[in-house]
Amino acid sequence: MYCRVVLRDSTRAFDREYTYAIPAALTDQVSIGSWIEIPFGNGNRPVQAFVLAVESSVDTDFYVKPLIRLLSERPVLRLDQLQLASQMRARYGCTYGDALRLMVPSAVSAVGDKIVRMVELIDPAEAARRLEDGEIDRLGHQRVIELLLEYGAAPVPEVLHACQISRAILKTLEKKELIRYFQQEIRRSGGEEPAYEQLDDFPPNPDQQQAIERIREALVAAGEIQHVQEFLLFGITGSGKTEVYLQTAKHATSLGRGVIILVPEISLTPQMVARIRSRFGSGAAVLHSRLTPSERYEQWQRILRQEVSVVVGARSAIFAPLINVGLIIIDEEQESTYKSETHPRYHARDIARKRAKICDAVIVLGSATPAVESFYRAQTGQTTLLRLNERIGKSRLPDTRIVDMRQELREGNRSVFSRDLTLALRRAIAAGNQGMLFINRRGMAGFMLCRDCGHVVKCKTCSVSLTSHLRPGSMPGQEQYQLVCHYCGKISHPPATCPVCGSERIGRFGAGTQQVEKSFNETFAPATALRMDQDTTTGRQSHAQILDQFASHQADVLIGTQMIAKGHDFPNVTVVGILSADLMLGMSDFRASERAFSLITQAAGRAGRGEAAGEVLIQAYNTDDYAILAAAEQNYEQFYLQEIAFRKAMRYPPFGVLGLLLLSGPNERTVREKMQHIHGVLTTRLAEDASQRGIPTEIELLEPGRAPIFLLRGRFRYRLIIKAQQAADLMNFLNTALNRFDYGQTAVTIDVDPYSML
Ligand code: ADP
Ligand code: ZN
Ligand code: ZN
Repeated sequence: MYCRVVLRDSTRAFDREYTYAIPAALTDQVSIGSWIEIPFGNGNRPVQAFVLAVESSVDTDFYVKPLIRLLSERPVLRLDQLQLASQMRARYGCTYGDALRLMVPSAVSAVGDKIVRMVELIDPAEAARRLEDGEIDRLGHQRVIELLLEYGAAPVPEVLHACQISRAILKTLEKKELIRYFQQEIRRSGGEEPAYEQLDDFPPNPDQQQAIERIREALVAAGEIQHVQEFLLFGITGSGKTEVYLQTAKHATSLGRGVIILVPEISLTPQMVARIRSRFGSGAAVLHSRLTPSERYEQWQRILRQEVSVVVGARSAIFAPLINVGLIIIDEEQESTYKSETHPRYHARDIARKRAKICDAVIVLGSATPAVESFYRAQTGQTTLLRLNERIGKSRLPDTRIVDMRQELREGNRSVFSRDLTLALRRAIAAGNQGMLFINRRGMAGFMLCRDCGHVVKCKTCSVSLTSHLRPGSMPGQEQYQLVCHYCGKISHPPATCPVCGSERIGRFGAGTQQVEKSFNETFAPATALRMDQDTTTGRQSHAQILDQFASHQADVLIGTQMIAKGHDFPNVTVVGILSADLMLGMSDFRASERAFSLITQAAGRAGRGEAAGEVLIQAYNTDDYAILAAAEQNYEQFYLQEIAFRKAMRYPPFGVLGLLLLSGPNERTVREKMQHIHGVLTTRLAEDASQRGIPTEIELLEPGRAPIFLLRGRFRYRLIIKAQQAADLMNFLNTALNRFDYGQTAVTIDVDPYSML
């Protein structure tokens, strides 16, 4: 017997199928999706591979090498996952291995041998002292030490994830003799799931009833219909979308089909998970980002053993090894967390469409503020629009107002809180209610600015402005300001005078979450505030802890970034303040308005979820922007009409796709020359295509130039933007042109339909 395999880790040059013989002793065990080790190349180096197919004969006279061994008793991949991986290669310009590694997560390989690599502080007291004395000059380093001081020891993958750092940071800490590695055997949690309280369905209201019925019909018809049936469930927060997901999921499972439910960021949606648990109990697997490697392994095994019919998780759960997937639900489908920012840069919605086509599954996208692309599909009939028109129960829409911050300044109010917001918060707190404050920025301030020469203090290796943070000391009064680069994590001390002109009039400008917290305490004491942002939530539990504390009214106000806008219901919240709403619009990115609209709407939706009426104040300098105006009206369609006109005029999605090609390297000249060379090659190629077909091509190359972040972690970055009609055309064009190109030391990133302009 023979098998056709692809390598788990390979460059594009070796990314093709290879044939190996299956030794007689293994013939019963090797099958499609098996994970094996093979002798590779002239040196017969052992490498890992996955089996695509098993065949009884082979079409060659050459000697076929036998595989070495199986790496997992059971196959780790299913046929439809292998098909998906093959489609992803073409669409994302990635290798089989790049795609398959998303489906067999590294945490699984880490615990495959039941041994996991752990890390601990060599001398916790010494580490604590160095932290206190400000000797640790990188944010990543600080986070690791803080985490290890709290947890003692932790598995390496978990530290990487919780602290959002790379392995290199741990290496450096090891070199500095702060941490050491050790091996630990993993205890498997006996595989038993706790019992869950079972809850019944709500009797659906007429809108829900109609949506459930349409989706159920689609599920019954799936397989007989050639194209993928897709629905857009459009309804404001609280209109009963989740109930529709749960009841249609039940229909799907009763038809013997598997269900995948994607949520934007699972640690922010504990209520959603609890509701799924209450209906499906141990029949659901939850893949959340803060599972330990062994917990993740356990959930993944349960799916593979076919013990569950429902999988809930963030973006990567779309790759779960669930059999016979019949329904894919994507909640808050407009969220940018569905787009991967690492290679391959896939979007979960696109993967869902591919997987649905392979498995004959139905897709349900849900949102209060759909992505403009998704609403356009509904307008043009590619997707069926299902509306939920009203909030369920007593809660009403909040009263929403825009506050002009220029007017506040003119009238002498320099505080981050407008007078209206101050009043509203005071009233709410006095009445025993709570408030929420949103600011789209971590840290203390946007940047440090010299008021005389206008110099902005920047990171020396990244060309982005530094953000000022307040580091709490061990005793009150010992807090220190430090400047942090949010890209490379480097920390420096704020300069006392301007490094360019020497002026002493250098100071922090613009407010971040910490600044808002500080001003809140100054203005509203003895009222209390909790803060939640990336910096307060790097530990394993802290999201849920902060939300629980706020829910049990241990503070009057919750201050945070967009993190706090999602999912959670706090019936006591009557006032929501959105600070500098127009900050979100300033980004050099065509989705900025869509994101701002969605975020303001979500944030506003947090007010008045209980009996008391809600009040929302949107503070802005640019008060006549269409996204802000429409958000204040809570009117999606008003926003959509303006936005779609803009997209059409600019040929932005859905009227075309953008491709982004980014080159980066340590030497500016090399990168610039490589970029000029690639641009030349592509231009020639385009001209050839055009003359062959005799028609002007749909592809348009813009002039290459510096990326918005020109210098990042010491690497120079040049960017080329390409416009096209279809993603597939663009990828074809790039693949054929670029496969032969030698990049040398220069790193290349390709992103088709990017979410950030890099
Ligand atoms: P969404 O997902 O659109 O935010 P939910 O499904 O969470 O809306 O519904 C909002 C609230 O209304 C939830 O507390 C839910 O339990 C409740 N609910 C949903 N559907 C019904 C129904 N048909 N009857 C009574 N309560 C419902
Ligand atoms: Zn200056
Ligand atoms: Zn930096």
